[in-house]
Amino acid sequence: MIRKALVQARQVMDRNHDDPRVLIASNRLPVTVVREAGHVRLRRSSGGLASGLRRVARNWPVRWYGWNGLASDEECPRAFGALKGQALVSVPLTSAEVSGFYSEYCNSMLWPVLHGMWDNVAVSDDSWRRYTAVNMRFAEAILSDCRPSDRIWVHDYHLFLLPQLLRKLRRDSETPIAFFLHTPFPRPDVFARIPQSRALIHGILGADLIGFHTAEYAAHFRDAARDAGYVVTNDSVIVDGREARITVRPMGIDADAFAQLGNDPEVIEEAGRLRASYKKILLGVDRLDYTKGIPQRLLAFEMLLQNQPELCGQVSLIQIAVPTRTDSACYQDLRRIVENTVAHINGKYGRSGWTPIEYLYDTVDLNTLGTLYRAADVMLVTPCSDGLNLVAKEFVATRTDGDGVLVLSKYAGAAKELTSALQVDPHRLRDLADAFYCALTMTMPERKRRMAALMRAITANGVDSWIDSFVGGDSVRVPAPIAN
Ligand code: UDP
Repeated sequence: MIRKALVQARQVMDRNHDDPRVLIASNRLPVTVVREAGHVRLRRSSGGLASGLRRVARNWPVRWYGWNGLASDEECPRAFGALKGQALVSVPLTSAEVSGFYSEYCNSMLWPVLHGMWDNVAVSDDSWRRYTAVNMRFAEAILSDCRPSDRIWVHDYHLFLLPQLLRKLRRDSETPIAFFLHTPFPRPDVFARIPQSRALIHGILGADLIGFHTAEYAAHFRDAARDAGYVVTNDSVIVDGREARITVRPMGIDADAFAQLGNDPEVIEEAGRLRASYKKILLGVDRLDYTKGIPQRLLAFEMLLQNQPELCGQVSLIQIAVPTRTDSACYQDLRRIVENTVAHINGKYGRSGWTPIEYLYDTVDLNTLGTLYRAADVMLVTPCSDGLNLVAKEFVATRTDGDGVLVLSKYAGAAKELTSALQVDPHRLRDLADAFYCALTMTMPERKRRMAALMRAITANGVDSWIDSFVGGDSVRVPAPIAN
């Protein structure tokens, strides 16, 4: 009996050792180390990428490589210890790299170019040197403990060079490499403004499977690869005698978890209290980023109050602005603009007992987020450019009551799936204000009809099948070389 149990236990251990692990590489780990009042603590990283990828660990043994948020010159061993226990591998960045790689190359150039919002920012040659050095450090960290049965999944624009570096340096050519871009991929002429655009394309093409949220981004990438001299087919690029496959798979969410949140009695009760203290609620939840179209949204709300004075005292906009890239002057300017606009509108229209815009510059916890989603009459997701936008999907999934209206920018990747939302162009303020009015006055049957269609769209494409299409089964196989 005991012998049999021991044999079974050994079989399980052997199987576990051979089980493919997923090695995730992303700029940030799913937790960030923060220093507060002389203490170091771990905080959940915000943003869509971390939200979705946490889920991988449910079905696979995972090792996650990324930066922990502190420059290596100020790191402390306690933080490393805490991360190790969670299979998180800290890839250290020096202060000079935080500045050159992260702030300059990634945030000041790649981010705006990828979103088609570049204003001729000049970045130094040094920042490119730092970008390549950091990508190389990720490659070394991953390859130092990679097993042949592992699958590597690289994420986002911070690590464009990593797939090719892994391919070149790996000892075992059986380990498949997938890459996913969470931002838009712009038209090739826009991408070509990056001085190193060809090297970046070559870097991405080191992957066996390359994923985008929409068919448009994938088509732009294929065009950019063709312009860079590669042979391109419908769903692949031929590179160094092999095929790098291209796939369109918009990221999904864990709809069941958000439905559970929406059905939580505490959330429902709190949402009821919120609804009792406001008459109609418009809601915005965004990182305070210039891509999110927050100033335009505020101005459109002002136009709404101006054009429909009967709404004064009847409707409030709750805007959660999640702090992001707070060291950047450009983001500090945006914060000033947004907060001045909020103060202006509240000063002009507010009156005793009614504040037109309730503005919160902070992160909120999941329960508060669920309460807000559940309480809102109208969810405003109106970015000028956005790879996908998970908030739009989370709002829908939480609305198990089948009510609520989603106003969605046509420049969010999610607009391709959420076609039953009220779609808008955030640059046209009058149209935006009209859409807010239309959403606020929409009849109940129309709201229910649209919400049911939205719910079908998000449940048809959940986060598990998204993950599976990059690391599950045969999704990312190493293709045979192409015969000449
Ligand atoms: N979110 C969060 N804390 C907040 C507000 C939002 O963690 O205070 C989450 C939200 O639930 C969503 C993600 O941040 O999963 C935002 O993802 P999205 O794709 O909408 O935008 P991103 O910030 O990635 O550009």
